[in-house]
Parts: sequence; structure tokens; C-alpha cells
Amino acid sequence: MNEAGKITVQFRGVRGSIPASAPENMRYGGNTSCVEIRYADQLLILDAGSGIRVLGDELLQNAQGNPIEATLLLSHSHWDHIQGLPFFAPGYSTDNRITIFGECGRAEQLQRALDAQMAPEHFPVRLQQMRALQPVRELSRETTKLGNLLVRTVRLNHPGGCTGFRIESAAGHLAYLPDHEPYRIHGRPSDRNPESAQRELIEFLRGVDLLILDTQYTAREYANRIGWGHGCLPDSVDLAIEAGARRLLFFHHDPSHNDRQLDEMVEIARPMAFGSQLLVDVASEHEIVSLTSPNIGVIPMIGFSQLQPIIAPLAPLMRPEKVH
Ligand SMILES: [Zn+2]
Ligand SMILES: [Zn+2]
Repeated sequence: MNEAGKITVQFRGVRGSIPASAPENMRYGGNTSCVEIRYADQLLILDAGSGIRVLGDELLQNAQGNPIEATLLLSHSHWDHIQGLPFFAPGYSTDNRITIFGECGRAEQLQRALDAQMAPEHFPVRLQQMRALQPVRELSRETTKLGNLLVRTVRLNHPGGCTGFRIESAAGHLAYLPDHEPYRIHGRPSDRNPESAQRELIEFLRGVDLLILDTQYTAREYANRIGWGHGCLPDSVDLAIEAGARRLLFFHHDPSHNDRQLDEMVEIARPMAFGSQLLVDVASEHEIVSLTSPNIGVIPMIGFSQLQPIIAPLAPLMRPEKVH
């Protein structure tokens, strides 16, 4: 359980598209999208990429036989956001209860996708055997109260659709936009997208303490990947500044980007944020971000420093210290 007045965000998977396990990726991590959020006695999980496997193992270890309750929010059913679920061990026990939510109007499609990825052609065990998993439910179009957290949704710009979440607590507000292509291209309105969509997104993000945002590509890479549904570095910084976000974390790292390239991306981004209140970093599987109203802080992991320096020393990987 978290101490009162603090919300913690632990990245379990930060990679987009496909897991990318390689020594040169280990500082930021190779698992696909999964974020663990703790607030008081609540556990909220954002997406079920390959990172959810280790989270599940730790939950079982820490529960010591007690029931596990968690809420899983699914942004969409692309494989990199659901592929870890069959390996989420707490899902198999009737003692546990995992509630799953998707955006209003998408429950049926999400349920079908979860079922299909565990069809016999793909996996030896069926979804029905994951007895802790409750049928996918829908969030409200407006605001959904989940315990002491408020959750709002926004439709993102991504092939097949993707849902962004804004999660509000007394300790701070954060937004999670895992897969999103900018509505504007290099700061300019594009004929591909209505300007109203950009304005709506800015209002949705207004004043968040933490923005976890798809920034898969550099500007140069994006030029050849327009329409692929993913973020572009300068547009991510612009969006965060326009929305008045306090801290931007690049997320959904390209599987081909190693630690050094991710360091370079943040080095390019930081001067773009000069003159604003925005801090820019790269989401890392070895970091717990803590929001404590009115300040935002980071609990550094052993061997990894937060914020500075950008290039952290490569230390032997250690299990993150739990803060709850
Ligand atoms: Zn993705
Ligand atoms: Zn996607």
C-alpha cells in the first residue's frame, strides 16, 4: 500500500511494437507496454504488453497467498498491448479478481481480441482458464470513478483506434497516450486531421503532472512513416508544452532504438523545452515515478539516476525496490 497522498507509476514495459531484448537496450528496457500505478490500496495496470508477466510474478510473491485485486485498463488490442496477458500468473486463480476496462463502445472488440490470441492456433491455454479475469467492461464517456481515482478517456490518432487515459488523484494527474500519431505535422496543421482534434487533445491533457506519450520516432524517421500511427519527437514536445504538462516521458520506444539512441532523443528534446516548465525524460523499466501533490518527484532505482545525468551508469540490473 502506498502512503497517503502519493501516486506511484512503475514502468513494466516501455517498448512499442515488439519486445526488444538486447544488452544495448537494457538500461531503458525491452518489454512492451505495461504501466503499474499505485494509489493507496489501489492497483491500476495500464495495458498488458510483455511487461505484465514480471508484474504478475511479483504480485504473487508479495501477496503470500492473499487474494490479489487489480484493475486493468486496455488502450487497444494491438498485440504489443495484450501479448503479456496469457503470462500474467495471478489471472489463473479464482482467489484473485482482475477487472478489465476499455473505452466506451469497445468492450466487445477487446474481449474478442483477448480470446483470439489464446485460440488453440496461437496458445495452448484458453482465456476461460484465466478465471480471475472478469469480462471486459466499458468506461464512461465522461468520467469513471475507480476507487479514489478518476479516469477519463480520449480517442487517439492510431490505425484501428487507441484510447488515451487521464488518471486523476488528489496526489496528481497523469495521462497515458501509448500509441498516437500527431494531428499536426511538425507543428503545422495537416489536411489529414481536423485542427479541432488537436485542440480537444490539448484540453484533455491540460495541466497534467506527468504525460506518458508515444514518441517512437525522431523527426527524420517520422518523415518516412507518416500514417503508421506513432509519435514524433518535436511534436511530442510541442503537445506537452501547449497542454502545460510538467513532465513528459517518451514512451513506446522503437524496438530498433538502443539506449544510446534514446539518450540522444532526449538530448535533442530538452533544448526544445527551454523557456517552458516542461521536463523531458525517457520512460525506463527501472524507474518509479512518484507524484506527490503539489510536487512531482522520482524515486531513483539503485544504479540508475533520475533526471540527471541523461546517460546513467550501466549497472547490474537489480530488482526494483517496492515502494508500497
Ligand atoms: Zn503499440
Ligand atoms: Zn497500436
